[in-house]
Amino acid sequence: MTAGEVDTSRSAEWMARAEAIFPGGVNSPVRAFRAVGGTPRVIARAAGPRLWDVDGNELIDYIGSWGPMILGHAHPEVVAAAHAAVERGTSYGAPNGLEVELAEEIAAAMPSLERLRFVSSGTEAAMSALRVARGYTGRDKIIKLAGGYHGHADALLVRAGSGAAGIGRPTSAGVTEAVAAETLIAPYNDVRAVQRLLDEHGTSVAALIVEPVAANMGVVPPAAGYLESLRRLTHEAGALLIFDEVITGFRVARGGAQALYGVTPDLTVLGKIIGGGLPVGAYGGRAEIMAEVAPDGPVYQAGTLSGNPVAMACGLATLRQLNDDVYRQLDEYGATIEAGLSDAARSAGSLLKVVRVGSLLTAFFDDDASFGRFFHGMLSRGVLLPPSQQEAWFVSAAHTYVELRATLVAARAALREMAA
Ligand code: PMP
Repeated sequence: MTAGEVDTSRSAEWMARAEAIFPGGVNSPVRAFRAVGGTPRVIARAAGPRLWDVDGNELIDYIGSWGPMILGHAHPEVVAAAHAAVERGTSYGAPNGLEVELAEEIAAAMPSLERLRFVSSGTEAAMSALRVARGYTGRDKIIKLAGGYHGHADALLVRAGSGAAGIGRPTSAGVTEAVAAETLIAPYNDVRAVQRLLDEHGTSVAALIVEPVAANMGVVPPAAGYLESLRRLTHEAGALLIFDEVITGFRVARGGAQALYGVTPDLTVLGKIIGGGLPVGAYGGRAEIMAEVAPDGPVYQAGTLSGNPVAMACGLATLRQLNDDVYRQLDEYGATIEAGLSDAARSAGSLLKVVRVGSLLTAFFDDDASFGRFFHGMLSRGVLLPPSQQEAWFVSAAHTYVELRATLVAARAALREMAA
């Protein structure tokens, strides 16, 4: 198949209707393809490593719902767990056993979460963790790193990455100056900058929040010793260290980046994989800190659908599949793509550079226009990449060498086409 032959008329019809009812035609900005141009594919169904759009085109998927689908789509165990849970009722607003089981499973994998609380999104989790940090320390300011994305709570929409970076408005309209002033910014991987902020504001800083592997400005791993330095500096300043492991949790290792790099945060923010594709977030950490949370303590935080039994069942079914073999395989897949893409780039004379941590990777081009051409070259050949080079590609355990080979064949053709 060559570029341009794909019928996408049904997607276009749906998107025309969507644009009349949703801002930008979407319910989350990056889905709108603004960074790459063109019309988004409207998805009809998904299985394993593949998606099918409403025109019946088959796509090899590297979005993976932006991280949750580590087992691939519609994994039989997850589907069965969802069915069984739905039969028992979809929400109770009262305690259930599944939430205890999922929490225990998470705490066993990430021992720094002595206590945790479920919420319904990563945004809620990060926002709540900040509130707890402020309640616990009695301090107001936070430090975040430029290009880090922690969801869309006001205090965290300052120099944010992801969709916020892609549309070129790092600070959102509607966030007050007063709120933004409490958020101090340092560049990622710059220890001295954090040191300077803490020297100046140390006694008023409640917490530093960081993606331990940055994945919302493209994938950027922590420099050697960076996370250790953040651990030491925040401790010395009496501020909490918050790891946002919404992407990295159960992705870069079962125990997340904190296990991979051996650095223990005070609080951790989770989402995505722990819900197995349903809306779940969580925040947790040392018991003494989490004792601040209502009803034990004075920090209020609640949720109608928190600990939802269907979502808990899907999360639990997902985590139960994630053993060492899966992570070894995911890393091999990531390495195969990295090597194949780098090789294809060399032979096409492309400046593409691949950055990877396990099954998270980004192909960085020297400009966004080149990425846009590559993206569409891949899409027309049946490979769906994240529609921005500020985002990570997510490989799943359901991918096989069949999909990886097809992906690399498509990449070689797309890069050749760009060079021509
Ligand atoms: N933190 C990180 C690191 C994320 O990547 C995201 C979303 N991609 C969030 C927080 C926010 O999560 P959600 O979209 O579930 O609100």
